[in-house]
Amino acid sequence: MKKHTWQPRTVAAQAGGHVDPVTGAVVPPIQLASTFERDPDNAYRRGYVYARPDNPNVRVAEEVLQKLEGAACCLLMGSGMAAATTAFLALDRTPDRPAHVVAPNVMYWALKSWLANSAPTLGIHATFVDATDPYAIAAAIRPGDTRMVWLETPANPMWGISDIAASAETAHKAGALLGVDSTVATPVLTQPIALGADIVMHSATKYLNGHSDIIAGALLFAREDAVSERAKGLRSGLGAVLSPFDASLLLRGMRTLHLRVAHQSAAALTIARHFAGHRRVAEVMYPGLPGPGHNVAARQMQGGFSGMLSIRVAGGEAASIAAAARVALWKRATSLGGVESLVEHRASVEGAGTPCPPDLLRLSVGLEDPADLIADLEQALS
Ligand code: PLP
Repeated sequence: MKKHTWQPRTVAAQAGGHVDPVTGAVVPPIQLASTFERDPDNAYRRGYVYARPDNPNVRVAEEVLQKLEGAACCLLMGSGMAAATTAFLALDRTPDRPAHVVAPNVMYWALKSWLANSAPTLGIHATFVDATDPYAIAAAIRPGDTRMVWLETPANPMWGISDIAASAETAHKAGALLGVDSTVATPVLTQPIALGADIVMHSATKYLNGHSDIIAGALLFAREDAVSERAKGLRSGLGAVLSPFDASLLLRGMRTLHLRVAHQSAAALTIARHFAGHRRVAEVMYPGLPGPGHNVAARQMQGGFSGMLSIRVAGGEAASIAAAARVALWKRATSLGGVESLVEHRASVEGAGTPCPPDLLRLSVGLEDPADLIADLEQALS
């Protein structure tokens, strides 16, 4: 009989089916040791040497996430920024042969700042394009020089959608990799590797953990090769591994990932529909509504359009900041993907040079009743 393969939500709920071999515990114990004993014959047969390259809790969480993304290997890191910058630093480059990359004009702002300001000193040069336009991506690629096309989809903070399959084809034709920041989509809604991506990155701080109580990142690779090996070396060399305690919290968070993302996506759609055409709202930005990116999102995302949306408040920046000041239930805070709903005047965070409109409020929808979230926003906007 053909062996049944567990569905992703089963893998997540059971944390990969892990049972502690010593005690039978159905929750992996937290192994805090920084170092591991060598065998008398000088080998390390149990597979652990020192907790900076990796540790047992990190490995269990990696195995689960690797299965959810259909990846060949996974590296958990100390933050999403550590994971993203490692993806760029691991590209094939030498002092005489810098790496060119193509990245979105509108993307997670701190990573864009790093690419614009720090990466060039490390031999990584980015061209920023409208990554919702496959022709703009193709036009920016320099065959022979371009090592990677980077996408974020849906992209902060306006939730533009990039076509992963089309971009993979374009990148591969030019000998470049495709890397995708899939933080907002999560493996529940989109599987970039199945669509042709070579590298997937998550800020695991967000939906994967889901409870706003750790900072973590993940890099996943379609193949084990020189790039994934360099990334592994960088994690160890830069000391950017996740701590055992945070890995354990991340594993617990991933057990409920599918339930959370389904609820948050449905609630975000309800909220987006409610405020579309509202007299105090100039625009609702959400890929689940008809508009730019919706058709690609409908093809590329399964089961929802994410828990993130933005509204542009009628009356401009001052009205937008005033509305955020009046919320009682939503929390005014940065970050996203947690169980509690957050609102943020995004341009205030991104500062000078941001493409973010000054009247935009970014909304991260949590697990509260959407009727309460709508009522609170209604009173804040009135
Ligand atoms: N990518 C996206 C889409 C994000 O929203 C964030 C954080 O807000 C990051 C990357 C960076 O992740 P971290 O804050 O875990 O370093």
